[in-house]
Amino acid sequence: MTRVGQPVHRITGVSLVDGTVADVTVENGIVTAVDPAAASVDPAGASVDPTGAPMGPATAPVDPAGAAVDPATASVDPTDAPVGPATAPVDPVRAGVDPAGAAGETGGDGDLSLPGWLLLSATTEPHAHLDKAFSWRGCEQTYGDLRAAIASWCAYAETMTGEDVYRRARCALGAYLANGCTTVRTHADILPGPEPLRGIEAMTRLRDEVRELMDVQVAVLIPEGTPGRLIAGAIALGVDVLGGCPHLCADPVAETTCLLDLAERFGLPVDLHTDEQLGTDVLSIRELCRQVRARGLRQRVIASHCVSLGSLEPEQLADVIAEVRAAGIGIVSLPITNLYLQGREHARFRPRGLPALRALLDAGVDVAAGGDNLRDPFNPMGRADPFETASLLITAGHLDAASALATVTDGGRTALSLPQGGPAVGACANFVAVRADSLADALAGPGDARIVVHNGRLVSRTVVDRQTALTTSVARPR
Ligand SMILES: [Zn+2]
Repeated sequence: MTRVGQPVHRITGVSLVDGTVADVTVENGIVTAVDPAAASVDPAGASVDPTGAPMGPATAPVDPAGAAVDPATASVDPTDAPVGPATAPVDPVRAGVDPAGAAGETGGDGDLSLPGWLLLSATTEPHAHLDKAFSWRGCEQTYGDLRAAIASWCAYAETMTGEDVYRRARCALGAYLANGCTTVRTHADILPGPEPLRGIEAMTRLRDEVRELMDVQVAVLIPEGTPGRLIAGAIALGVDVLGGCPHLCADPVAETTCLLDLAERFGLPVDLHTDEQLGTDVLSIRELCRQVRARGLRQRVIASHCVSLGSLEPEQLADVIAEVRAAGIGIVSLPITNLYLQGREHARFRPRGLPALRALLDAGVDVAAGGDNLRDPFNPMGRADPFETASLLITAGHLDAASALATVTDGGRTALSLPQGGPAVGACANFVAVRADSLADALAGPGDARIVVHNGRLVSRTVVDRQTALTTSVARPR
């Protein structure tokens, strides 16, 4: 039985997204072999409850009156924990439930035997705001647009301590990790009030503390007119990325110039909030593309949000996409937050706050997707789960399941300049295993039972103990 925190050497009898059943071998954090399963595993005989509970064969339905209850399979869901400034954080290691024989899992140290589970690349959150996460309860709850959210947040942020940021962000990371997300890029504000870098310090400290469990990148979100000493202070604290919001500034061109000057000076990658509005009057992405090309920037440049790309006429969209391609800029879509924030001024036929995802993908642009905000004034909802993001890209963005998954796995890792993960020879051994029969079932929500491996190490195991009087076994079609 491999326990949370231990290295994983073999994952056996697990289903892959193409429907094959495989044994996966891992050495030193890298996948060295993916072979047809040696043991005779009959996944067709292992039925899966679409709600995610470990199930028996379809031919042996559970007797509602006599359902066996295994006390060892009590579940813990960090996202269910009451959270807020006064709440104890969820430890990413201790949050993992590790009962003996959990979820039917067997095998010795280093082995995970997972028949009936689907193995996917661990997911990626390319754009979070962990310094804001779980602050909804402490803020004025306005249910408004972007400007209203900013006002609500700023009022709270002024009195916020660095310790508050640290605790809420740690809780959010625990939830992401339990959901199978081992890579997070978070933006972090230079805060109003005393010690403006207290949030940056908390985030870089947390990033370093969880380094063995997950990859966290911190992007400093630089407001217009920030004194140079604060920017230099944030960089000295070790931020990984430079961020900003040119489209919200009085002069987006000048702000783009300022931020890219900094990027050139410090040699850091760039991730800008870009055109987070439905209207097309301000298309600051064009200036970003122009300057990236003119400067010959070599570091990664990401344009996040790009909501207005969903509002352009086809010919203008084609022009902008060609500019994005030529500049090599990656686009990050953030469906849950932009579905929440945008379109409130439309009494009817509300548009969706999404860029033209299919057109971008078809043109070969690097596209990733994330959640952006998590239970704060910018988005009071959210589960810290990239599967939720992918699900929204299918529902609201009209992508197919494979494309949607790619935006929260390979696409996210490309955006963050990380090597690929997943069950492929040579990839980083970063996995999430879910109790699902198919990719669509997994993205729809597999009932939260998940096993998570990061760089060849078991970093989270969540099992679900559901007791219901209604038997819901569903047999896999043969
Ligand atoms: Zn953002």
